[in-house]
Amino acid sequence: MFIGHYSAAFAAKAAKPEIPLWHLFVAVQLVDFAWAGLVLAGIEKVRIQPGFLEASMLDLYHMPITHALPSAVLWGLGAMILYHFIYRRLTAWSAAFVVGLAVFSHWVLDLFVHTQDLELYWGGPKVGFGLWSSLILSQVLEIGLLLLTIGIYFRATQNQARRSVWPMVIIGLLVAIQIFSLIPPAEAPTVKAFAVQGLMAYSAIAFLAWLLERKRVGSI
Ligand SMILES: [Zn+2]
Repeated sequence: MFIGHYSAAFAAKAAKPEIPLWHLFVAVQLVDFAWAGLVLAGIEKVRIQPGFLEASMLDLYHMPITHALPSAVLWGLGAMILYHFIYRRLTAWSAAFVVGLAVFSHWVLDLFVHTQDLELYWGGPKVGFGLWSSLILSQVLEIGLLLLTIGIYFRATQNQARRSVWPMVIIGLLVAIQIFSLIPPAEAPTVKAFAVQGLMAYSAIAFLAWLLERKRVGSI
């Protein structure tokens, strides 16, 4: 899953508006930031196989540190504790809890689209509902979840930027990034190039979230 993860960020933002949106955008992809780093370090393993699934060319055969269920729980707990200590002057534990949940949501949403490559426990059976084997179904889920939660986010955060086109521009960009990511490249990228592209995309999207929020409360 790619942009569908951001639906958890928008839902969390609606629940806890005091958390900056870009923090939640990093949180929901934290596990994949780590995944890309570990792939670059050669610790987690992936094969790129064009046509592997209709909506994904990744054979994710070894990712115990980032995408096993107990790992996802630990990433969420770790993020919650860290967030609490970094921002304890500004936010209550409940905000740190929401950030932790946002981190854990990554695994739950991945569960729907991944094929059976998510370990239930370390060395245990692998699960995944496999929606990526259908381009249409997986995109209906990802884009549908995103639009639904963006609607909830707008209702919860209201007003100031109703006349601004910025939110729509950024949402359009997110959907465009998703569609672009599904166009099969002329030549399959290397694993390293793919991981670097992922890191750049996740960072750029978090920057967009910062921009979106600045515009929503700002001057435009
Ligand atoms: Zn993932």
